[in-house]
Amino acid sequence: MKVMKFGGTSVGKPERMKQVAGLVMASKEKKIVVLSALSGTTNALVTISNLIANNNRELALTRIKELQDHYYQFIDELLSKPDFVEKARKQVEEHFEFLEIILRISFSEALHKDILAQGELLSTKLFSLYLDENGIDHKLLPALEFMMLDKFDEPQLATIKLRLTQLLDQYPDMNVFVTQGYITRNARGEVDNLKRGGSDYSASLIAAVLQASVCEIWTDIDGMHNNDPRIVENTKPVEQLSFNEAAELAYFGAKILHPASIWPAQAHNVPVKLLNTMEPLAKGTLISADAGSEGAKAIAAKDNITAIKIISSRMLLAYGFLRKVFEVFEKYRTSIDMITTSEVAVSVTIDNDSFLKEIVSELEAYGRVKIDSDHTIVSIVGNEINITEDILSRVFQATTTIPVRMISYGGSSHNISLLIPQAYKAQALRALHSHLFF
Ligand code: ASP
Ligand code: MG
Repeated sequence: MKVMKFGGTSVGKPERMKQVAGLVMASKEKKIVVLSALSGTTNALVTISNLIANNNRELALTRIKELQDHYYQFIDELLSKPDFVEKARKQVEEHFEFLEIILRISFSEALHKDILAQGELLSTKLFSLYLDENGIDHKLLPALEFMMLDKFDEPQLATIKLRLTQLLDQYPDMNVFVTQGYITRNARGEVDNLKRGGSDYSASLIAAVLQASVCEIWTDIDGMHNNDPRIVENTKPVEQLSFNEAAELAYFGAKILHPASIWPAQAHNVPVKLLNTMEPLAKGTLISADAGSEGAKAIAAKDNITAIKIISSRMLLAYGFLRKVFEVFEKYRTSIDMITTSEVAVSVTIDNDSFLKEIVSELEAYGRVKIDSDHTIVSIVGNEINITEDILSRVFQATTTIPVRMISYGGSSHNISLLIPQAYKAQALRALHSHLFF
């Protein structure tokens, strides 16, 4: 069994969706195809939901109608037999009628999630109809019948495994299954989701519980690049990454993969392949337990970081000081990304500043607190990077004119991170690229 996940751009145009069907049929192996919503749909649904929440129902209705028209056009290009076009229109209509019903009832967080779920429900139905029209035997599996979150919104792996296996066992001779990414039920049984970009996470969870041979993530770029191609010229796809390296890159800014999607595959040792729908023969990036080569492999950057410095008043970092500091962050469920210490002070970074005020006011009990916002973490990721010859001197040469606020080295053997003001990000990425990769 393998998992093939296709992102929004891979199914965003009728001809792309047809291509996806071709890729699905290209191999004989039994497979689960996980689809995102058509590109643009989830954003449109977020807008519609926000308009409803703000009681701007008239504009919400206009946006709903626009989106509906987009789907009707899509159907006309995707399907050719009149009875299939008719069937597709009916199915699409049901989803939009549902949105219009929501317009008339009072808004809640649960309804918001219901609205967001329509994108994946629509894309999988259309894909399934296209397969039907072309006589491709398959089964559409409703993700809402097997994906499940616990009360901390973490996936319930054991339940997912049990329910999914039970569903699959009902069709022992079926070779192609199709399901929705992103959507799930939560602990209260409501429709929920795995956060934006979460279809990758769905694919990885499914691959993990089924012990799939591979989890293929199909996008519109030929793998994970060694730097941000929007900022740096001459970036290249990285052929091979370990799970740890990929997790660091995804977490620290590489947009191609949802950061949470590494751990399920890693825990169950399922290789992940990043592939390009537009260039199916390109090598892409293989992510597995094996790192392949050593040395610096890629650079990623994560913006909107806040640095917090706590300058200890009396105790000069006496034992227990760090624990007290960390407990404040724990209390507000705010995770720390980077940390550096000196004898009199400790600096940490966070990317979620929802509770910044509360955190600062509690930290002030332990010392003076200084905040620097609008920073960027630049991470250099590679295998055994800590013992790679010259690595630090090259990093320092690249950053001589950049006001580096924090450096983290030695926390793992595959990451060196720098905290810099966001305004210096492009300069830092380009300089590090030329010092490390040429
Ligand atoms: N459709 C969802 C989003 O746009 C999930 C995904 O595409 O992965 O965030
Ligand atoms: Mg994505």
